Amino acid sequence: MNRIYNFSAGPATLPKEVLEKAAEEMLDYKGCGMSVMEMSHRGKEFKGIIERCEATLREIMGIPNNYRVLFLQGGASLQFAMVPLNLMTKHKKADYVHTGQWTKKAITEAKKYGTVNIIASSEKENFTYIPKLSPATFSKDADYFYIVTNNTIYGTAYKTLPDTGDVPLVADMSSNILSEPIDVTKFGLIFAGAQKNIGPAGVTLVIIREDLAGHARDITPTLLDYQTHIESGSMYNTPPCYSIYIAGRVFEWIRQKGGLTAMKKINEEKAQLLYDYLDNSKLFRSPVKKEDRSLMNVPFVTGNAELDAKFIEEAGKRGLKTLKGHRTVGGMRASIYNAMPIDGIKTLVAFMREFEKENT
Ligand SMILES: *Cc1c(COP(=O)(O)O)cnc(C)c1O
Repeated sequence: MNRIYNFSAGPATLPKEVLEKAAEEMLDYKGCGMSVMEMSHRGKEFKGIIERCEATLREIMGIPNNYRVLFLQGGASLQFAMVPLNLMTKHKKADYVHTGQWTKKAITEAKKYGTVNIIASSEKENFTYIPKLSPATFSKDADYFYIVTNNTIYGTAYKTLPDTGDVPLVADMSSNILSEPIDVTKFGLIFAGAQKNIGPAGVTLVIIREDLAGHARDITPTLLDYQTHIESGSMYNTPPCYSIYIAGRVFEWIRQKGGLTAMKKINEEKAQLLYDYLDNSKLFRSPVKKEDRSLMNVPFVTGNAELDAKFIEEAGKRGLKTLKGHRTVGGMRASIYNAMPIDGIKTLVAFMREFEKENT
């Protein structure tokens, strides 16, 4: 068996220990004679799996009791509509900070349900930074304030959160959830697609302060109402059972590694290796403003498309895969989520040094 270093932005690499455990439990989950994929979601085995999954997540993230944890489907993208359908109901307006493709899609969707105020945008400079925010510009009567905490495509991340006062802060954390400790009480709602830092595609995590649910507008389909899922324990219909099971194993892996404080320390160390090299390289550079750089997604360019293509091809031959950047940024992007071992970064940087020597 030959595992590569997979720098994909998502679906992304998973912890080897989790995959091994899943392989071991594949045919016969804990002596019940069937796999997790084959069992009733109403049976006692799966009940244990989903309850443990939620309990472990609550423990590692420190989720307070007045927040509900939901395991939904439809990806992070369905939340672009679910958030306004459920939350944009009082004054029918919301503030959005525009920091890339994922806010663009969220804004397009929210506009169908009310007034969207784009209070800041970094679009003019191709989203290479996080705009400075001044609370004086925020709408006092917004139903919520929306941000993407980590911009997967552009490699930017918030280092401090906007102070939105009584206006609930809604965050798309698809690509940096679980990468470091966060104070959940600062948020009204957090959501994340699983396939970056949680587990396999198919499950979407929602963490919602309970007073924000139960006010969906009346046209909201039953399945898109957070209250439906709160009342049914994410079991209104068949949940994405296997994805939930693997997510639970990933949460246990994080706990065993020392939790989110330990994740942050190693993630900083990993990112630093790459940024230090980029900042001293004569061939490669990071297009992102220093103070806004992501720990999870690191775009880099040579400025020469032919050289970029050559780099990606040669890196692939060394088992350093999926390094091609997003088409709107060009160049390369290394996604270095929790499950990417530090040896992956060391191998990448060593190869970049070698490539630089041969091509300058
Ligand atoms: C990947 C991603 C999405 C889209 O996720 P889907 O689960 O494919 O809908 C949305 N937001 C961010 C920040 C992402 O990284």
